Amino acid sequence: MTERELIVGLDVDDVLLALMPRWLHEYNEAYDDNLSTHDITSWDLWTFVKPECGKKVYRLLHPTMYDWVEPEPGAAEFVQAIRDRGHTPRYITACGDPKNTGLHKHFAMAKWQALIRHGIAKDGELLLPGRDKSRAPVDMLIDDRIENVEGFRNGMGVLFTQPWNDTATGPERADSFSECLALIDYYKEEGQ
Ligand SMILES: [Mg+2]
Repeated sequence: MTERELIVGLDVDDVLLALMPRWLHEYNEAYDDNLSTHDITSWDLWTFVKPECGKKVYRLLHPTMYDWVEPEPGAAEFVQAIRDRGHTPRYITACGDPKNTGLHKHFAMAKWQALIRHGIAKDGELLLPGRDKSRAPVDMLIDDRIENVEGFRNGMGVLFTQPWNDTATGPERADSFSECLALIDYYKEEGQ
């Protein structure tokens, strides 16, 4: 087997940047609640919030949130390890409703600035905004949303474990960045 240089697609929210803790912080403040990331055991966040909030929780998600969002611990080192192996990181992220072009652009810029600020992304790298990741131009996709991983058609999908996906079975899974790197190393040699 020949070793390959890979384009490694990295989801941004709750893979590289800890969006959910910030989102819950804003929700807890607004609705006097005490939810933490580990309480959110399915993708449908609205089912865990108070009834008076419900789907309004999605209105809290706004580009300014990225001014405050923290990185996932070890994210910058993880992406650097991808570069050090000779691969190319590429950031693949939904940015709200693509029909709302102003907000879509605002989300993309806010996420890029947060990735730069936390030393995760570097100048010249690509962030691709898009909700449908099935044909994303990458060899691997590491994402915390099971539908994105199962729908990915261009290579190997890896589910990044979070409380909202940790009972899902099927796709390849990584519980940590070191497990992601092990799968990258495997795919580099074995993938087609
Ligand atoms: Mg995500």
